[in-house]
Amino acid sequence: MDFSYPPVAVAFRAEIRAWLDEHLTDELRSEGGADMVGGNLERAHDWNRLLADAGYAAIAWPPEWGGRGAGIMEQVVFAEEMHRAGAPGTLNPIGLSNIAPAIIQWGTEEQKRRFLPPMLRGDDIWCQGFSEPDAGSDLASLSTRAIRDGDVWVINGQKTWNTFGHLANWCELLVRTDTEAPKHKGITCLLVDMTLPGVEVRPLVTITGDPEFNEVFFTDVRVPVDMMLGPQNEGWRVAMTTLAYERGTVAKLHLGSRAKIQRLIDLAKATPGPNGHATAAEDPVIRQKLARSYLEGELLKLVSERAISAELHGRAMGPEGSIAKLVWSELEQHTVEVASDVLGPDALSGQWARDRVYSRALTIAGGTTQINKNIVAQRILGLPRDR
Ligand SMILES: Cc1cc2nc3c(=O)[nH]c(=O)nc-3n(C[C@H](O)[C@H](O)[C@H](O)COP(=O)(O)OP(=O)(O)OC[C@H]3O[C@@H](n4cnc5c(N)ncnc54)[C@H](O)[C@@H]3O)c2cc1C
Repeated sequence: MDFSYPPVAVAFRAEIRAWLDEHLTDELRSEGGADMVGGNLERAHDWNRLLADAGYAAIAWPPEWGGRGAGIMEQVVFAEEMHRAGAPGTLNPIGLSNIAPAIIQWGTEEQKRRFLPPMLRGDDIWCQGFSEPDAGSDLASLSTRAIRDGDVWVINGQKTWNTFGHLANWCELLVRTDTEAPKHKGITCLLVDMTLPGVEVRPLVTITGDPEFNEVFFTDVRVPVDMMLGPQNEGWRVAMTTLAYERGTVAKLHLGSRAKIQRLIDLAKATPGPNGHATAAEDPVIRQKLARSYLEGELLKLVSERAISAELHGRAMGPEGSIAKLVWSELEQHTVEVASDVLGPDALSGQWARDRVYSRALTIAGGTTQINKNIVAQRILGLPRDR
C-alpha cells in the first residue's frame, strides 16, 4: 500500500482551508451533515451555491462542467478538510455523486448542458428510481414498464425507497423496455421530470420519524424520448456507472466514524459507570466494547487507504469498496450500541438515540451486507458463485 499526499494535494489543502476559514460561519457549522433531512434547506441551498461558485461543489467533475477534475488524493484532502472544519455537505448528494457521473459518461451534449449546471448549484434536486417492491438486491428483475408511443415513453409501475424523492424535481429512472430480452438487456434509463402528470410521491416515514425516502407511483407518465440516458435497452450499463461511483465517499466513511468513536471514548471517561465504577470507561465490559469499536475504526481507515492506493496505482477500487462499506456499516452499528452502555437511559433520546435506530439502515442501503459478502467472496477470495 502506498498512500502519500502529492504536492498538488498539499497545495489544495492550504487553499481549501483558507477558503473555509473565510466562508464557513458558526451558524452553517451547526447544520452539521443534516442538510436534507431535518436541516434548514434554504441555508443549505445558499451554502451549496457558495461551494459551486468557488468550484468546490463537485471537485471531481471536469472543469468544463464546474468541477476541477480533482484526482483521488485531492478528493481525500477535500473530505478531510470539510470534516475538520465541520462544514455541511452539498444539498444534492445523490445527484452530484451518483447521477452526474452517469450523465457525464452517457448523456448527450444537450442533456449535459441542461442538467449539470442546475444540479451543481442545488437548484435541481435529483433522486434515484431504481428499487422496486420486488427488485432490490436483484435489481435487474425490475418491472416498471415503459412502452414507446411515437416520440414518448409511457411509464406505468412503482418504485420504492427513493431517497429525497419528496424533495426532488428530477429522477434517474430505470424502466423495462423489452420484456422478451434477458433481464439485464431489456432495461432503459430515463431522466424523468417529477412534476409530470401521473407521478405520485408518497413519503415513507422511517423509524427516526423523518420522511427520508418515498414510494413513487407512475401512471401513464409520458416522457419524451430525448430524455433517454444512454441507448435504448442499455440501462443496466448506465445503472452500473451510477452505482460504481464510490471513489470520493470511501475516504469520508472513516473520518465520521472515528470522530464518533473518539466522542464516545471522551464521554465514557466523563460519565459515572455501572457496578460502582467511577466512570463508564473503567467498567471492563464497556472498555472491551470501546476497544473493539476503536480497532474497527482504525481498520476501516486502513481499508479505505488501501482502496485509495489501489486507485492511485490504476486499479479499479470496486471490491475494496465493498469491504469498506461492510466494515463501516457494522462499525456504526457497534458504536451506537456501546453508546447505550456508556450513557444508560440518556442514550434513549437525542442524537445517539437517532443514530442508533438509523444505523439499522446502513447494512441495507447501497448494497446489503450479504450482497457485499458475496462480492468479496467471489471477486476477492475467488470462491465459486452463489447459486
Ligand atoms: C436508507 C436507504 C436508502 C435507500 N435509497 C434508495 C434510493 O434512493 N433509490 C433506490 O432505488 N433504492 C434505495 N434504497 C434501496 C436499497 O438499494 C435496497 O434496500 C437494497 O438494494 C436491498 O434491496 P431490498 O430492500 O429489496 O432487499 P432484498 O433484495 O429483498 O433483500 C432481502 C434480504 O435478502 C438478502 N439477500 C438478497 N439476495 C441475496 C443473495 N443473493 N445472497 C444472500 N442474501 C441475499 C439481503 O441481503 C437482505 O437481507 C435505499 C435503502 C435504504 C435502506
